[in-house]
Amino acid sequence: QAVLFDHSASAKDLGSIQVLDAAGDVKLDSRTLAPRSKNFADRDFFRIHQSQSDQGLFISSPWVTQDGEYLISLSRRLTAHDGSFRGVVVGSISLSYFHKLFRKLRVGPRDSMALFDLDGKILMRVPFDVEQIGQSIQSSSAFRYLPHDPSGAYTSRSVLDGIERLYIFQQIGTRPLVISEGRALDGIYADWRQHVRLIGSAMAALVVFATLTMLYLATALRRQAAAENALALLALTDGLTNLGNRRHFDKTLVSEWRRGQRDRTPISLLMIDVDHFKAYNDAYGHQAGDAVLATVAKCIANCARRTSDLGARYGGEEFSILLPGATLPAALETAQQIRDELTLLRKAQPNLPTLSIGAACMIPGGSFVESDLIRTADISLYDAKKSGRDCISFGADLPSWGDVKAA
Ligand code: GH3
Ligand code: MG
Ligand code: MG
Repeated sequence: QAVLFDHSASAKDLGSIQVLDAAGDVKLDSRTLAPRSKNFADRDFFRIHQSQSDQGLFISSPWVTQDGEYLISLSRRLTAHDGSFRGVVVGSISLSYFHKLFRKLRVGPRDSMALFDLDGKILMRVPFDVEQIGQSIQSSSAFRYLPHDPSGAYTSRSVLDGIERLYIFQQIGTRPLVISEGRALDGIYADWRQHVRLIGSAMAALVVFATLTMLYLATALRRQAAAENALALLALTDGLTNLGNRRHFDKTLVSEWRRGQRDRTPISLLMIDVDHFKAYNDAYGHQAGDAVLATVAKCIANCARRTSDLGARYGGEEFSILLPGATLPAALETAQQIRDELTLLRKAQPNLPTLSIGAACMIPGGSFVESDLIRTADISLYDAKKSGRDCISFGADLPSWGDVKAA
């Protein structure tokens, strides 16, 4: 008895191990030296070993003892030297053995863990359902791989509960048992989806923040550029007359002079002075004087038609028009147009003062510099004043600057 069955036969959850003869009668029992006479010839395991010599280890469907305990029989055929059937060795394991074993495992509520044999017969499964023990899952996708591949992984809908899972199975050693763990796909993706939602919303928030910041910056930049342009224009405009101011005139003269030098084109300048303006101020007051300056400026602006023409307030009651590209006759024509405009206004407002205009035209280059153009126009203006005012004068037979100053 001791040699045959060892201590393993008395392990907890193991039933007795019995040896049956070819007729199915119990001959030896691990638990007793005098086994009760019993015949198992009608049991499935016995009939299978009797008819098939190559069955190996046969695992039976669970069966219930008189005490209500679920057992699984494990059996092997006893074969004589000549290959004939000599009987069966059969032992039993209580399902509670696997139950305890599986209880130690952490399995999610929608996950599964199953132990089954190579015929697909379930020995234990969590979630536990006694009805499923002994059922066949031969139609499971695992059997597309088994027994050629002792391990593998696949995604499939469970043949038992219809839940879609990722299964990983592994044949246990060389034994005809397979353990398979299934993780519910929605459980796997739940974590992933939560991550996607988290990262997605963080990214969306970042994109919204970046877009808003960009829009804000773009608007701020546009406003700043507009303000700078307005400021630059203001810095170059005379407040009273809305013509260019002296700074604008000086800058434009330098750039247009250079252009004339490059292109060898003429540049003309008209210096315009209001006649007896002091007397006008004295007679009508400075506010009326300001209105006259604005009226003269309007006439100048109307006649400085080309985009490159620049009408400016040179200082006090003196104005200038820079006419890049204009010849002397063209400049004199513009000067006459300004006088004509004012003459027209004087018909309605006879006390309006008249204008004296000095003209100059030069082709930049040679020994001439910008200031020569201003000086020549100035000399012409003094010439006009000397000639009785309310007229246009240009550089013909001009006196020298010294003579003008002396005069
Ligand atoms: P002339 O015909 O020789 O040019 O005589 P004028 O009186 O016009 O010349 P003058 O240089 O003696 O006087 C210029 C006057 O222009 C003196 C000044 O009060 C006046 N004036 C200068 N700037 C302004 C201004 O912005 N507004 C007003 N109302 N008057 C100004
Ligand atoms: Mg003056
Ligand atoms: Mg004057």
